Amino acid sequence: MRRVVLIAHDNLKSSMVDWVKIHQSKLSGFELYATGTTGKRIQTETGLPITCFKSGPLGGDQQIGAAIAEGKMEAVVFFWDPLEPHPHDVDVKALLRIAVVYNIPMACNRATADLMIQSF
Ligand code: PGA
Repeated sequence: MRRVVLIAHDNLKSSMVDWVKIHQSKLSGFELYATGTTGKRIQTETGLPITCFKSGPLGGDQQIGAAIAEGKMEAVVFFWDPLEPHPHDVDVKALLRIAVVYNIPMACNRATADLMIQSF
């Protein structure tokens, strides 16, 4: 089963939940992973089962980066916030970098996420 990671910064969590609801039937066929707070919110609002890593600021982005490096993840939807600084900006940058290094499809906004999920 395809393993997909979902991450959204706080200002974009509602947008992520909306996006997941729109694509829920397709996403229910995937193994879903997320950073802690994003995952709990999606799980509560959609009922989809999600394996949660730690919260992003507490190392969740690094855990996901490590999972990508180990070949365990196949796609990432990461709604990162371009308008707010974050204490874990370096972790965010590292995750974006490692996804490119391993040539993982990574959607960073809804338009791209829509295109990506259409191709799955
Ligand atoms: P969160 O982490 O889902 O725990 O909020 C996301 C992030 O800040 O990278």
